[in-house]
Amino acid sequence: MTRALVTGGAGFIGSHLVEALLRQGDRVTVLDNLSTGSESNLRAVRAHPALSLHVGSILDEALVDRLTREADMVYHLAAAVGVQWVLQHPLESLRTNVRGTEVVLASAARWRARVLLASTSEVYGKNDAGALDEDADRVLGSTRLSRWNYAAAKGLDESLALAYWAEQRLPVVIVRFFNTIGPRQSGRYGMVVPRFVEQALRNEPLTVYGDGQQTRCFTYVADAVEAVRRLAQCQAAVGEVFNIGQAREITIEALARRVIELTGSRSEIVFVPYEQAYPAGFEDMRRRVPDCTRLRRMIDFAPSTGLDEALAAIIHERRALLGTPH
Ligand code: UDP
Repeated sequence: MTRALVTGGAGFIGSHLVEALLRQGDRVTVLDNLSTGSESNLRAVRAHPALSLHVGSILDEALVDRLTREADMVYHLAAAVGVQWVLQHPLESLRTNVRGTEVVLASAARWRARVLLASTSEVYGKNDAGALDEDADRVLGSTRLSRWNYAAAKGLDESLALAYWAEQRLPVVIVRFFNTIGPRQSGRYGMVVPRFVEQALRNEPLTVYGDGQQTRCFTYVADAVEAVRRLAQCQAAVGEVFNIGQAREITIEALARRVIELTGSRSEIVFVPYEQAYPAGFEDMRRRVPDCTRLRRMIDFAPSTGLDEALAAIIHERRALLGTPH
């Protein structure tokens, strides 16, 4: 039986991963400080005999070391997440994402646990040249803009992990999640899909930032977790970086219209200038499309859940939470 440690296991992607690991028979320990995650995300598995939850920080070296010592595999998902959250908490974001990851990697190296490191498509910065493969250039703006510091910190996490692999033979696999969506994702930290769904269910205006012609590619969380689960078992993936996503693009305006249709909402769309939506100097990327060739070659898997199906699952969940009629 594999003993897994999932940092950030009470978060959005983390909690779905925990469920999948329990289903495959792993013993799972979760370390989460419940800052953006919550215990309710683990409601469905809270009583599972193979799950234990520790509320604490990845900056607590003694705690991380104790939990890592008992693990064969560490899924490191704990991080500051969400553009809005990162902009509001720049210092905490940097400390968590830089020092926290170093603490986790050092313990894993000490106890010879394998590591899967969760990174993000944000590391590509404003490179919007089309389908981005894992070796594409990273284009970051000024250090005065927190978004790029977040991208730099996550990039440094990757560099650290690769250095531990190169110098200490710590087996690491790095994944870059592109825009991942699904039940339990909160709109509080800026993410567009849960925000639009809640706005639509409340019949409030959907807030499309800028001209709405920027595009994103959305991946359903169950697909992203399946890719992670398979990569973690794949020896050949060690020391590599993988995009996790799919390449179907949609403009944010079209996304808003689709959410209104699928919810049957009376909401309208309002266009909010970036200057009103974000702090001064904010920069957005016009496109962000993954090239997932490497993922497909490695594990013979590609995310396949369509956007409508993903939105339907999210709408279903939010309706139940908000108590709005079906
Ligand atoms: N966005 C929007 N309205 C919102 C929240 C976000 O139009 O209420 C836009 C945002 O400016 C960006 C896109 O939706 O262009 C995706 O934003 P999100 O924060 O979900 O992800 P990321 O920017 O990291 O891709």
